[in-house]
Amino acid sequence: MRLLLVEDEPEIQSFVKQSLVEAGYEVHTADDGIAASQLVSKYAYHGLIVDLGLPDQDGIDLILQLRRSGMSSPVLILSARRSVDDRVKGLEQGGDDYLTKPFALAELLARLRNLLRRNLATGEEATRLRILDLELDFISRRASRSGEILNLSPQEFVLLAYLCRHAGRVVTRSMLLSEVWGMRIQPDTNIVDVHIYRLRGKVDTEGREPLIKTLRGIGYVLKDR
Ligand code: CA
Repeated sequence: MRLLLVEDEPEIQSFVKQSLVEAGYEVHTADDGIAASQLVSKYAYHGLIVDLGLPDQDGIDLILQLRRSGMSSPVLILSARRSVDDRVKGLEQGGDDYLTKPFALAELLARLRNLLRRNLATGEEATRLRILDLELDFISRRASRSGEILNLSPQEFVLLAYLCRHAGRVVTRSMLLSEVWGMRIQPDTNIVDVHIYRLRGKVDTEGREPLIKTLRGIGYVLKDR
């Protein structure tokens, strides 16, 4: 299993890497957010370990950014920030578990094993999602209908993935703004409508059963039956 360790302190980085390698993992390392993003765009990782205090950006922002670009691998946050607020924030913004520094190596390994196991248990769902004749492949980041590949932009894929994960349920504009675009406030914009319009033009082409329904004044729902 391949892991990415994002940690800027050389001593901690080499110590953790060494231990993970000894535990049988293949480990890539990054010293900052930019290096981490580049690696994630190049390799698929089974899990990430991310320090929050990085030289070029906050680890939380890095995780948010990776999630927004569609990365679904589990993330273990490693941080010197110990407050409950920090931990809750970390978990709310895309982290799957949180370990404060200093930490015991045995605990890091145990938590990591748990995260990876949990993810493998839902592995099928994590890498592929099927709703009626619509299929999403999260590894190749492609969507298809009845086997025919849909030519989606990365942003459209993330939007469709969100609708699919909530299939059969109402998704409001503010949910999409906050989860897909990372906007906390509701700006005076029709960004959601514009993207849904474009997405629908690719997913619900003529001759296919329309899947994306508009609930006027409320939001959208992706048909699941
Ligand atoms: Ca640091």
